[in-house]
Amino acid sequence: MKTVLEVGALIQDAQHIVDGPAYLVMADGLIESTGAGTYPGDPAAVQRIKRPHSLAIPGLVNAHGHAAMTLLRGAGDDLPLHAWLEQRIFPLEAKLTEEAVYWGTLLACWEMLRSGTTCFVDMYFFMHEAAAAVAESGLRGVLSWGMVGLDDGSRRQAMAHARSFVTRWHGAANGRITTTLGPHAPYTCPPDFLREVAALSAELDVPVQIHLAETRREVAECLEQYGCTPIQLVERCGLCTRPLLAAHCVHVTDADIELMQQHDIRVAHNPQSNLKLASGVAPVPRLLQAGVTVGLGTDGAASNNNLDLFEELRLAATLHKGVSEDATLVPAAAAFHMATAAGARCAFLPPNSGRLAPGCTADVVLLDMQSPHFVPGHHRLSDVVYAAGADDVTDVWVAGQQVLAGREPVTLDTERVRYEVIRLRERLTGPGN
Ligand SMILES: [Zn+2]
Repeated sequence: MKTVLEVGALIQDAQHIVDGPAYLVMADGLIESTGAGTYPGDPAAVQRIKRPHSLAIPGLVNAHGHAAMTLLRGAGDDLPLHAWLEQRIFPLEAKLTEEAVYWGTLLACWEMLRSGTTCFVDMYFFMHEAAAAVAESGLRGVLSWGMVGLDDGSRRQAMAHARSFVTRWHGAANGRITTTLGPHAPYTCPPDFLREVAALSAELDVPVQIHLAETRREVAECLEQYGCTPIQLVERCGLCTRPLLAAHCVHVTDADIELMQQHDIRVAHNPQSNLKLASGVAPVPRLLQAGVTVGLGTDGAASNNNLDLFEELRLAATLHKGVSEDATLVPAAAAFHMATAAGARCAFLPPNSGRLAPGCTADVVLLDMQSPHFVPGHHRLSDVVYAAGADDVTDVWVAGQQVLAGREPVTLDTERVRYEVIRLRERLTGPGN
């Protein structure tokens, strides 16, 4: 049976807003139609959900993160990236188990559902357990087993993990789970290993995601070791012949941006993580002007420290104005596009995803327009970007299935998730202080 959502207003995409009663028809996991006013079909033949005080928006897409890092939330703050990784994160990650990644990913899914994210791009390890958590949660996941190739042993292991993960999970959970290869970064994956990754990506016919040009130090070391920038390096290694998503791209030159545009390298912009780790501010206005697809990510919860895309949305729309002293940069509609349709493109979802339009996947979020953030209601999209927050999210559908109802996940036992994650934290670092 079809489901008809009748709402108070609807944002179809960054350019199309119905500010008044509207409807949206979902059937077989897709959006069949949308329109202004009341549903014109036979109301007896459909399941009707009436939400006259709700604003429907496309589900948000988190274009970069490490879901199970929720386990490390707050475990190491106020350190520069390389010290943070080497002194705090890597030693704790060495103690993580399959079980920990499973529960940590469920915690992330709970948090993302609560804040209106319907799809997320992920790179971590013990990914069979992460994928099982995603399948259970009802979210859409674009998952990869993070690969490090500093010696022969780690390379062989990374290639084996990636191959078995892609083979088992690509297209799983009725297509809600897709996979990519995830070489961690140029400083953990030398050029000949990146070439092997490019070949495996072609063989398995999956895209690639990588951390790129995150810090000034990474770029300096790349120039010193290989005589080229990280962007040039991935091009030389053949990764640009594959669909490629690059996280961060904070320190890129004009020539890099030209290469990115030429090869359609998609960028996951993680403004909060970049600020917290003092990596810098990515040149997003220049990337957008060059026509590069830019989505928004939270990065892992250890460097953010939450998975709330509403915060990234507002930061993306304000940060670049501030650093450039130009209030016209990254307007609300551009930021909204980054968190939805452009994010979907970064996540390699089918063309035209990330919108509430006929033929798109039925990934829908309802916001409570009775919240003060939507009063008086001059401009719905402006309210979403500059005023609203995760607390305004009440209901979420992914592929036409309701996964959040009245702010509570339908699919998850949240008490159990909380209990297990606290138990695992005590095993990692001892009882709380
Ligand atoms: Zn990351």
